Amino acid sequence: MKDNLLDNISPLAFMLSNSSTPLVIAGPCSAESFDQTLETAKQLKSIGISVFRAGLWKPRTLPSSFEGVGVNGLEWLNAVKQETGMRVATEVATREHVEAVIDAGIDVLWIGARTCTNPFAVQEIADAVKGHDDISVLVKNPVNPDLDLWIGAMQRIVNAGITMVGAILRGFSYYGNNYYRNVPEWQLAIELHRRYPHLPIFCDPSHMGGKRELIAPLSQQAIDMGLDGLFIESHCNPSEALSDKDQQVTPDELKAIINSLIIRDKSENTENLDMLRRQIDACDNELLNILSKRMNVCRMIGAYKKEKAMQVVQTDRYDTILQRCINEADKLGLSTKFLKTIMSAVHQESVRQQIEIMNSGS
Ligand code: PEP
Ligand code: MN
Repeated sequence: MKDNLLDNISPLAFMLSNSSTPLVIAGPCSAESFDQTLETAKQLKSIGISVFRAGLWKPRTLPSSFEGVGVNGLEWLNAVKQETGMRVATEVATREHVEAVIDAGIDVLWIGARTCTNPFAVQEIADAVKGHDDISVLVKNPVNPDLDLWIGAMQRIVNAGITMVGAILRGFSYYGNNYYRNVPEWQLAIELHRRYPHLPIFCDPSHMGGKRELIAPLSQQAIDMGLDGLFIESHCNPSEALSDKDQQVTPDELKAIINSLIIRDKSENTENLDMLRRQIDACDNELLNILSKRMNVCRMIGAYKKEKAMQVVQTDRYDTILQRCINEADKLGLSTKFLKTIMSAVHQESVRQQIEIMNSGS
C-alpha cells in the first residue's frame, strides 16, 4: 500500500525561515487565566519565540487534578495572536476540540501522547480536520514505544489532506522509578527520520525529563541527534503552575537554555556516520540505565538474603541465569563467549553489591 506520509509532507508554515537555530515552540503546560497566558506569551515573544503553546484540555492521570479551562481559553489564545503576532498551538483529543479550535483560528494543533495510542480518537481528529489544510498538526509519540502506532497516527492526519504534519518525541512511560519522567528512546526518532527524511521532528524535553534541570541537557541531545525543533513548557510563574510545575521554566530561564545550546553544523557530509554514532550513544545510555536498574534489584535481593540469613552466592541460580542468557543471546546473534564475559562481570558486581548490603549496619 502507498505510504502517504512519505509523499505528502510539506514544511510547517512556521518553519520556513532559514534560521540555523532549531525552532522553539514554548508556552505553559496549561492556560490558567487570561493574565497568566498573556503575560507568559509577551515574555516569550520578547525572547524571540514565535509559536506559543498552551493546553486547554488537559489529559490528567488523576481526575482530581486541574483538567484545563477548556473553550474559555480560546479567547485568551486569540488575544495572544492579536497582541503579540505569535502563532498559537493547543492540544486536541476529540472532534469537539478540533471544531472549537478551528472556529477560533488556532494555527497549530497537537495530538497528545495518550490520544496517539488510540486509533479511534486519532481518526476522529483526522475526520474533523479534513478540509482545513492551512492548519499544522503535530503528533506526539504514543506513551508506549510503538513506532508503527505513531506513524499510523500521522498517516491518518495526512490521509485527511493535511500536509503540514510534524512529530514530537516526548519519551515513553515505564513502570517503576526512572531517571526520566518519560524515557527518551532516541532511536525511535532516528528511525522515524530514516524512514521519513522530510518529516519535521521536535523534541519535548519538558515531558521527557519531568524536571526543569533536564531541559537543557535533553535539548542539547535533541540537537545533537539532528532533530528540527524543541517544544518546551514555559510559565511566567512556574512554582504556582496548576499542572507540571516541576518541569516548567520562566521565559528568562528559557532564554538562558536556548543561548547555552551548541548548534551543530549539519552541512558536513558525515551525517550518516554521525547519526549512527548518536545511535551508539543512545544505546549506551540505555545500557547504563538497565545496569543501574539490575543493580538496584540485586541490592533488594541482598536485603532479603540478609533478613533471612541466606548466603550471597547460590551457584545453581547463577548457572540457570547464564544458560538462559546464552540461549537468548544466541537467538539475537550474540556469541556465547561474549555473553559469558559480560555476564561474569555483571554477576561479580551483583555479588559485590549484595555483600556490601549484607555487611551494612542497618
Ligand atoms: C502537554 O504537552 O502538555 C502534554 C499533556 O503532553 P503529553 O501528551 O506529552 O503528556
Ligand atoms: Mn504538561
